[in-house]
Amino acid sequence: MPGPDARPAEVEVRLVDVTKRFGDVVAVDRVNLEVRGGEFFSLLGPSGCGKTTTLRMIGGFEEATSGLIELRGQDVTWLPPYQRNVNTVFQNYALFPHLTVFENVAFGLRRKGGLEAKEIKRRVEEMLDLVELPGFGKRKPNQISGGQAQRVALARALINRPAVLLLDEPLGALDLKLRKQMQVELKRIQHEVGVTFIYVTHDQEEAMTMSDRIAVMNRGRYEQLGEPEELYERPRTRFVAGFLGVSNLLGGSREGSADGYAVVRVTDGSRLRVQSALLQGIEGSFEIGVRPEKIRIGTGGEGTGGEGPGGEGPGGEAPGELDQLEGTIADASYLGVSTQYIVELRSGERVSVYEQNVERTVHGSLHTSGDRVRLAWAPDHAFVVASDAAGPDQT
Ligand code: ATP
Repeated sequence: MPGPDARPAEVEVRLVDVTKRFGDVVAVDRVNLEVRGGEFFSLLGPSGCGKTTTLRMIGGFEEATSGLIELRGQDVTWLPPYQRNVNTVFQNYALFPHLTVFENVAFGLRRKGGLEAKEIKRRVEEMLDLVELPGFGKRKPNQISGGQAQRVALARALINRPAVLLLDEPLGALDLKLRKQMQVELKRIQHEVGVTFIYVTHDQEEAMTMSDRIAVMNRGRYEQLGEPEELYERPRTRFVAGFLGVSNLLGGSREGSADGYAVVRVTDGSRLRVQSALLQGIEGSFEIGVRPEKIRIGTGGEGTGGEGPGGEGPGGEAPGELDQLEGTIADASYLGVSTQYIVELRSGERVSVYEQNVERTVHGSLHTSGDRVRLAWAPDHAFVVASDAAGPDQT
């Protein structure tokens, strides 16, 4: 039971300075984390960044080398998995092959004991309805598809109503189309049951589709934690900017400020603006970032609405006008929904631009290699990342 100084229930899982070492390898490095009750929370990062180890420590399958793990205010750091109100779904969902779907789902209830057969039946059927497999109870695991097996695994894990469900790349074995369907399903199920989900994935789109909040992990720590939109629109490190989607990063130095914007001269000589607040806390060198889909591309003044580079710099313009760069198309690739342009700046740096194919027809290539173009975007769409490997924010 939680003690008198227990944390409020809204913090479901708390990690305080949690470290895990395997010999010389620091798999998880002093992580501080709070997951709220009812939240769909993802640990996102590349292979080896420590996300599975973090999850396993929350589940009790791995002991922390140091630090504290709390569930609803109770210190569980040294409790074995079965004494934590937590369940886990793994990628290799490991259904019992000799048991029917019904018995697989009923397994946890039967083990707990104390329920009448009628009640077990009711609850198993409720779970099979939840995962949209009504009537599948009599089948064996080898008589259902991979996607259906994953749903059964989910029903089995949820039937005891754990406070927290840990999911370790549970969709990894499914093909892309099924995975996308299951992402939407998982989100629906999580909303319906209200159980806190902690989800491990290396797939940024998957994390963004489902999560309320995401911790982006790199080398045993998370570099940034926030809502998907915040992480995408305002990444604070190079790693986060590059891991979630495509970013154009331009090195620059601050020249002044005007109207809440910092004026930054970038390598190709142009002056760009970025909200001054975004430079707060950044010491040393930094880069300005802009996402490819935020950039408008045009020839001459077309589509860019303002002075070109080399004329009046954007620093003197009123906020709300667009910032601009000039370059040459190095590559144009038709991607169906959009066309991707690689534009080379005077500095030799390359910028990616995605243009939605709203106007385009089979005959209409808008820009081709070698064309001189202007790139323009609203300064409010620019973000800033520190060039140095900044200490990750672990609060
Ligand atoms: P993946 O997506 O590949 O599963 P991950 O982000 O989940 O990667 P972890 O499995 O947590 O990463 O591993 C983090 C680091 O700890 C890696 O360098 C890994 O090699 C190491 N590691 C994990 N488990 C052990 C172990 N039992 N013994 C030794 N080293 C381990």
